Amino acid sequence: MAGMPPDSDSRLDYRQAAQTSPSMPEFDLDEELGRVEFRISARPHITLDNRVCSGCTARACLVACPARLFVETAAGEVIFNYENCFECGTCYLVCGHEGALSWSYPPGGYGVRFHKS
Ligand code: SF4
Ligand code: SF4
Repeated sequence: MAGMPPDSDSRLDYRQAAQTSPSMPEFDLDEELGRVEFRISARPHITLDNRVCSGCTARACLVACPARLFVETAAGEVIFNYENCFECGTCYLVCGHEGALSWSYPPGGYGVRFHKS
């Protein structure tokens, strides 16, 4: 439903599916970025609470985000840039820590726009 975050009840099923999947489909980030444009809102539509992330050892967001927007610093802190977000919801689905991610869609007129070719 438009304006709603991904279904949090599906988190467990998603993780189970990912664990049993024989392989991930090939994904060329540079190619995909050539098919989209981003209209960036001044308000981040996704934010991290590092108090929660500091206790997370799985750090699934680092590998699950197709846009590679989550990065671990040398100090072990997870940082995030919302600007090139595909709004796919994967980070919200794979994160198993309540309150770590605050997820919403960008305001109207902002966010990702996909082009066919
Ligand atoms: S966003 Fe979720 S998966 Fe990523 S580091 Fe924080 S708690 Fe862990
Ligand atoms: S919604 Fe998708 S593209 Fe955006 S930060 Fe989360 S996983 Fe990455």
